[in-house]
Formats: sequence, C-alpha cells, structure tokens
Amino acid sequence: MSEKEYYNVADIFGENVFNDAVMQERLPKKVYKKLHEVMEEGRELDLETADVIAHEMKEWAIEKGATHYTHWFQPLTGVTAEKHDSFITSPMPNGKVLMSFSGKELIKGEPDASSFPSGGLRATFEARGYTAWDCTSPAFVRQDAAGATLCIPTAFCSYTGEALDQKTPLLRSMEAINEQALRLLRLFGNTTSKKVTPSVGPEQEYFLVDKQKYLQRKDLIFTGRTLFGAMPPKGQEMDDHYFGAIRERVAAYMRDVNKELWKLGVSAKTQHNEVAPAQHELAPIYAECNVAVDHNQLTMETLKKVAGRHGLRCLLHEKPFAGVNGSGKHNNWSITTDDGINLLDPGATPHENIQFLLVLTCILKAIDEHAALLRASAADVGNDHRLGANEAPPAILSVYLGEQLGDVLSQLISTGTATHSLSGEKLETGVKTLPDFLKDATDRNRTSPFAFTGNKFEFRMVGSKASIAQPNIVLNTIVAEAFSDACDILEKADDFELAVHDLIKTYANEHQRVVFNGNGYSDEWVDEAERRGLPNIKSMVDAIPAYTAPESVAAFEKFNVFTKKELESRVEIEYETYAKTINIEARAMIDIAGKQIIPAVIKYTANLAGSINSVKAACADADVSAQAELLKESSSLLAEAKAALTKLAEVTEAGSAMEEGRDQAVYYRDVVKGAMDALRAPVDKLEMIVDKELWPMPSYGDLIFEV
Ligand code: ADP
Ligand code: MG
Repeated sequence: MSEKEYYNVADIFGENVFNDAVMQERLPKKVYKKLHEVMEEGRELDLETADVIAHEMKEWAIEKGATHYTHWFQPLTGVTAEKHDSFITSPMPNGKVLMSFSGKELIKGEPDASSFPSGGLRATFEARGYTAWDCTSPAFVRQDAAGATLCIPTAFCSYTGEALDQKTPLLRSMEAINEQALRLLRLFGNTTSKKVTPSVGPEQEYFLVDKQKYLQRKDLIFTGRTLFGAMPPKGQEMDDHYFGAIRERVAAYMRDVNKELWKLGVSAKTQHNEVAPAQHELAPIYAECNVAVDHNQLTMETLKKVAGRHGLRCLLHEKPFAGVNGSGKHNNWSITTDDGINLLDPGATPHENIQFLLVLTCILKAIDEHAALLRASAADVGNDHRLGANEAPPAILSVYLGEQLGDVLSQLISTGTATHSLSGEKLETGVKTLPDFLKDATDRNRTSPFAFTGNKFEFRMVGSKASIAQPNIVLNTIVAEAFSDACDILEKADDFELAVHDLIKTYANEHQRVVFNGNGYSDEWVDEAERRGLPNIKSMVDAIPAYTAPESVAAFEKFNVFTKKELESRVEIEYETYAKTINIEARAMIDIAGKQIIPAVIKYTANLAGSINSVKAACADADVSAQAELLKESSSLLAEAKAALTKLAEVTEAGSAMEEGRDQAVYYRDVVKGAMDALRAPVDKLEMIVDKELWPMPSYGDLIFEV
C-alpha cells in the first residue's frame, strides 16, 4: 500500500463479503426471504434455493477476481483448513471453459477427513468427512498472493455425523442458550424477543519481531517461542511500551492489517501497544458468537500474513519469551436478544432489576459448578506458561463483580433482599477546563479471570493462539444449563415473584464462594481459594479430564452439544497435542544446542585457551587469571549443558516411543519439560559470557527492542 493512499473506511468496509446487503441486492426476493428463514429459524435449505444462491455468489466472487472456492473450516488442529477447487468445468467442444458453482457444492463439501485429528472417532479407512455451509456466517473473498478465493465458512463432521471441528458444537451451544434464555425471558413476561444470541468481542494480543532476526532463530521457526535466551538488561519494568506511541513500522503494519480486515468485514476497532516491548493488541467490535469466532481466526491469519510484507513476523504464541509477559485473548461475552436487550445490562439500579439478578446468579452458579471445565476450555500448551505466572489470571476461576454488584450480592446474602445500589461518584480533576464526569460505579480489576465489565463478562484466561470456539462452547452450554435449572423451578411456582426472590437468594448464597473482588495475582488468594474449595488446576494435562467429568458430560449431552463419545475423542486429541508439542520443542532444543550452541561455546573456549597461550608466550609473567577464570567457568557450563543435552535426548526418545494418551502427556510434562529446563539453564548463563559475535542467534534484546 502506498504511503499516500488514503481511503474512506466506509467505502471499503465489507467490500469482499457476501453480506446481507449484497444478498438483498443480488438474490431474487423469494430466495433472499427463504435464506433468511433458514438463518433465523434454523430450517433446512432446499437444493433449488441453494442453486440460485450459489450461482449469484459465484458471479459476485468472479467480479472480485476469484478463480477458486473453498470450504473454510476449523478442524481440531487449532488453525483453519481449506481445500481449493476452481470454478472451471470440463472444456467445451470449442475449447473454452465455463465457470460453475452449484448449490450442492455450496452446501456440502467432502474433504478427505483422514488427515485431520478425530481422536479415534473415525479410523483412517473410514475417511469420509463432510463440510456443511454455515449460512449464519457470511462467505467472503480473500485476495492474496495466491489470487482471489471465495471462502465459505463451514462446519466439519464425520460420515456418522460426529463433530470433527469447533464450529459444529459452537452452533449447537448457541442453540442451547437461545432456547433456555427465551424460556427465562418468557417467565418475566417478555413475549416479543424471538432469538437470543451470545455476543463476543475477543481482544487479541500478539508480538512483532523482525523477520531477518526471526529467521536466525530455529526455536521460533519450529515452535513459535524461544527455547533459549538470557534476559536483556532492560525488560518491561519501566512500563514505557504500554499505550506508548506506536512506532512507524508497526503503525504501517497495523494500517495494512486494518485495511485487510475491514475489507473482510471484520470490524477491527482498537489497537495499542501492550505491556511487553514488541507486544500489541487488536480488538474488534463484538459480533454474534460464531461470526466472532470466524473473524478471530481471520484476524490471526491476517496478522501473520501481513507481517511478511513489512519485513516482520507476528508471534501468536502465548509465551514467546520467558520472563517477559505473554499474550492472551480476552473473550468479552454477553447475551443479547434480537430486539436489542442485553441480558447482562444491570441498568442504573441493579437491585431492582430482578431479571438481571437472576441471570447474574445463574452465571455464578454455572461458573462455580463448572469451574474446572471452563478452566479446561482455556487450556493450551503455551498457556501453561502464563496462567498463574503473575501476568495472567491464576488457574483458579473466580468472578469479579466490582463494588456495585458486589454490594447488591452482599445485601442479598445477608438480608435476602437488596434495597439499594451504590452509584458512581463525580470525578473531580481539580482543573477548571477539564470536564467533571460521573465515574463508573465500579472500577476495573485486571487480575480476575472472569470479570464483570459493565454489561458483559470478560473471560481472560484464553491463550492468544487458541481458537475462541472452545471457551464460548463451554460458556454457552453451562449458562444454558443454569437457565434451564432455574426455569424448571420457576415454571412450576405458584407465586412467581416469591419464587424468583427465593431462587436468587439461594443461588447467591450457594455460589458466593466463586466471587472474588481482590487481587487475583496475590499468594493470599491462592490460599484463600483453597480454603473455599475452588479448584486450582495448574497444567493443561490436569485440566483435560474436566471434559469427561460426569457433570460436564451431563451438561453437554442434555443440550446436544457433545456426545460422550465426541468428548472422549477431544480428550484424546488434547493429550496427543500436548505430547506432540513438547516433543517438537524438545527436539528443537536438541538440534539447536547440538548444532549451534555447543559448537559456538567450543570455539569460544578454544579462543580463550589460544589467548592464554599467546599472551604467556609474549609475556611470561602476564596475569592471565581473568582468561583462565572465564575458561574454567565456560568449560564447566559447557560440560553441564552437554550432560543435560544427552539426558534430554534420552528422555525425549523414550517419550516418543510411548503409546499416545494421558500417560504420555504426563511423562512429557513431568520428565521431558524438566530435562528441557535443565538444558536451558547453563545455556542461558553461557549466553551472558560468550562473545556476542560467536553466539549463533539474536538475543532477547535484539528481538524485542529492535522492531
Ligand atoms: P478493554 O478496555 O477491556 O481493553 P477493549 O475496547 O480493548 O476493552 O475491548 C473490549 C471488547 O469488548 C471489544 O471487542 C468490544 O467490542 C467488546 N464488547 C463491548 N461490549 C460488549 C458486549 N455487550 N458483549 C460482548 N462484547 C462486548
Ligand atoms: Mg483492550
């Protein structure tokens, strides 16, 4: 993009999306209406209608330069998958080709499923898998070096109908919360809202490093994070990067990212520097849950793709640099009706808002009863480095309500009714020319994993690289279950008013232990949480079993989100992913230490020894104690590193020979990771001693301060 190219965002926003405006313009009225019925009422699309839509979609895409189409889906590999087909048909007798795209091709695809993880749901000889069009998330044309491609968001299932992806259970969970929330609204006399949808706005953190430096770091190339690296003299202690002015190179990059995203209809809204040097954040305006999930995948793809054009590399790993804050994703979540009511909006006087108080206490119940499951939904190999490391919330789930709601809850618990709500005071700056304004009734708390922020909850445990599908599947399902439990009781009540007050009070009492408004990073909280009996699940390996715990299976099966078999398959995939990821990290370390670091240290020690000899030869009584000391120190660290390398190679080999499953994952966590740490320690010390010219890769300082 040229420096001088300025444009009006409104002109380009969504220009590559087959959105509602385009459909309304291009589709025959009848077809447009039918599609809307399918989208809104969840009916099935007939082939005749699909044919018309497919034809128009193709014509539109070809005008945008598209040559291919793809069913764009999210298998359980963590990234999106696509198989491209061109629009051309077999050549006609005159040698020309026609471009075609049928309704059948639009609504159903058939990628070979055998190369995607299925966790034993499907043997390789039963490789059939299907992708099905998710018409609630619009198709789009992606333009890049590969040309232009029509991308059709789809769900991905096995031949027998089991979900092999993130989208299928996500859509099922959205149906669950829709139904149960409507039940609840009807109890409060709402007869007008027709649909309830979870809204999601994910804030995405990422790092940018220089591409040339990245290419000299095999650890970054193979694993997305540094496996060695001494701390630079300056870290993030000055906090001077956070919200600092954005450097020009980075600003140019962000500008390009925004443009790409806007064309795809992703409403990238906020951008700023984050706490760590070289760390940044991008947040969109919230959207319907499944669209937000798709958009977040697109955002991650775009962040990576555009980086190359600016001589940069984007790191989405949760912990690219040890000792420096890692990256996460804040999943902002609320529930809204089709006629614009946000069920999480407390209003000015929450104590009088009985519907809100019921919704709120239902959510407390859901989080308390399924804390381990929600924790598991944020489990990711990279995220193990963050949770509980004083930069992200601890691995303990608690809910922050803030002063105002916290006070209402206390009233409910102590007296059974809430009679008043604290209100925000006036903020006086003491400067006449600055306006005084009303403060929010509640301050922010950055240390809570699940914080109420005005009219939404912010789930802050999610890792930066992970799909946000999983956490939202869990949130939608457990809240649907809590609503359902409440409705079961209230629908039978003779006196609704009385029953609902009783229920709010009961839930508030029973689940108050999950509410915590203090500092989530403190050690006291860890102890306090233990006293309260809240689970503190420190690693992914220990988090995984929550998926198949009886209470999880019951909730998922009740709302047809997952069958037990699907859950078991996901558990299997997670263990495999864990072991495979650590295995790759260990092997990368072995490679780098053996081929790059040890040879560099040998060269350094040889230089030192040579220097001692030549100095002595030139001046027999010269003091060479400094060289001798360095030689002793580096040689002993070298010996330590070599021994650790041998050990790591041994344990990694034993690990890869194990059968896949929980035992293997536990072994990688307990044995292989320890051996990795043992190798890293002497190497990082050596980095501080060895001549910079000889050190085979850019340092942390080079990577994070020179972008
Ligand atoms: P923060 O101050 O927490 O960093 P940001 O502006 O970076 O806030 O991000 C807040 C995110 O929450 C945005 O993506 C925003 O669109 C989203 N959001 C705002 N209101 C809602 C809501 N009602 N439901 C879901 N997400 C919301
Ligand atoms: Mg933010």
